[in-house]
Amino acid sequence: MIDTIINSYISTENTATHAIEQHLPPINIKCEPKLNDQKHATTLIKEFFSRIEKEFRKLNTKYAKPLGFDYWFIDRDGNLQCFTHEIELFVFLCGSQNYPDKILDTKITANTPKRLPPQCSIILKYIPKDISVEDIKNEISIKYQTTFNIEEMRGSIGRTSRHVRIDLTSQCEYTKMMNSGVIAIGGQLIEAVEFLAPLRILICSRCNAPGHIKKDCKGEHDVCRRCGGNKIQGEHRECTIKCHHCNGNHESTSFECPLITEFRKELINKLKSKAHTLPLKVQLFIPTEFRTQGDKNNRILINNTKNACLQRQSQTTLLNGNLNLHEWPCLPRNANSQTHTTANSSSLNGNNIWNEMIKTQNEFNILKAKFDEQEINMMKRYNEQKIKLGSILSLMSVQMQQQNETIKSACSTLNEFIPIVTTSLEISQQILCKSAYNSSDNFEKLSFETVAQQLQTSKNFLNEKKLLISNKNAQLFDNFEQNKKLLQHGIELYITNDE
Ligand SMILES: [Zn+2]
Ligand SMILES: [Zn+2]
Ligand SMILES: [Zn+2]
Repeated sequence: MIDTIINSYISTENTATHAIEQHLPPINIKCEPKLNDQKHATTLIKEFFSRIEKEFRKLNTKYAKPLGFDYWFIDRDGNLQCFTHEIELFVFLCGSQNYPDKILDTKITANTPKRLPPQCSIILKYIPKDISVEDIKNEISIKYQTTFNIEEMRGSIGRTSRHVRIDLTSQCEYTKMMNSGVIAIGGQLIEAVEFLAPLRILICSRCNAPGHIKKDCKGEHDVCRRCGGNKIQGEHRECTIKCHHCNGNHESTSFECPLITEFRKELINKLKSKAHTLPLKVQLFIPTEFRTQGDKNNRILINNTKNACLQRQSQTTLLNGNLNLHEWPCLPRNANSQTHTTANSSSLNGNNIWNEMIKTQNEFNILKAKFDEQEINMMKRYNEQKIKLGSILSLMSVQMQQQNETIKSACSTLNEFIPIVTTSLEISQQILCKSAYNSSDNFEKLSFETVAQQLQTSKNFLNEKKLLISNKNAQLFDNFEQNKKLLQHGIELYITNDE
């Protein structure tokens, strides 16, 4: 009976998808006065994002997407319930100090989540009971400034020690703690490992069976998880606890129930067999009883294909190189064991990273010195070239001036010279005309007149040329003035640009 239920549900893709999905809880924003108008709420939310954007971008410099919720609604009490799957935004909104007091006449108070998502959480393992949570807080606050929450993990409390979960808002500090692998508390080294998201299991709220939700349930009525009776008949607050799956002495949704346990086991096996299809970001926690024996990494379920490992590795290298990166890290797989040898090897690993960083820093310093020297040389040469170019430009401008003066004086000489020639020609013409008039020899008269005619032609020609020259001269002068202005402008630009 159990097998058939499991097989019918385990085969659906939904179950597996649900198991690995890591939803972030809603952000609850209390409003005063209460909201009742969708339009007003929309304006409020828009204004809210424009108010927080500057601070958010300052803290998340690599975040390129626009700000907004995935969806939101006004709840029964007239407050806002907002959802996002962006971890950066979620973490930012977990800090009550990041909210304005008032938006557009509405007072707002954030009811922030008590914990950050698994990607921001670290487990400090086996902390002796005589070190109190308060002591841990104090000790950690010396080295880490962005502690959001510290709490004991309920399932881990043993006789002498327990695990403590610590949430850090800064991704840099998270990486720092994960890379060091240990932290010292009360003079004792404590192993720090990533907090892995537990597998999520769908349990139907109607029939209490795993693997589907109420909407898809084939049951006829809501079944009491204590006694297995019909919920709308009789009293069910103090009814006898007797599991209706297995008749055991537990509630039917309890992890003690073989049905639920079997379901978890099958689900984990299915996910293990399909690990190559898991998204890169997903790292699931495998409870002790379901781990593969003899595999040292049996505590964690991740996509282990060559490609995925390579991608993860390149991300990790990047993180080691630059702690300011703002993407969430894909963590290196930390070989897990519960002895302190791991802690030691982790700290050794930390030392190696540190040495590597110092070496890289030195190389970088040498490169920087070389670069600085080159920069100074380049600056020197640039200045020399600049001075040269400047003097060439002024020389050009002087030369142009001189050329123009020469042309001008040549023109004026011509202008003075031509009238003298024309006057001489006129006088000669008059003399010739007179001589022709006085002459009695017809042949001589004719030749005088011909010469006078030629003189007239030359005179006309000269006058024409004179007009042409003065026109050209005026044009030339205009051009020169324009060129001079352009050159001056060029020189000015050259000087101001340089400043
Ligand atoms: Zn059901
Ligand atoms: Zn009952
Ligand atoms: Zn049971």
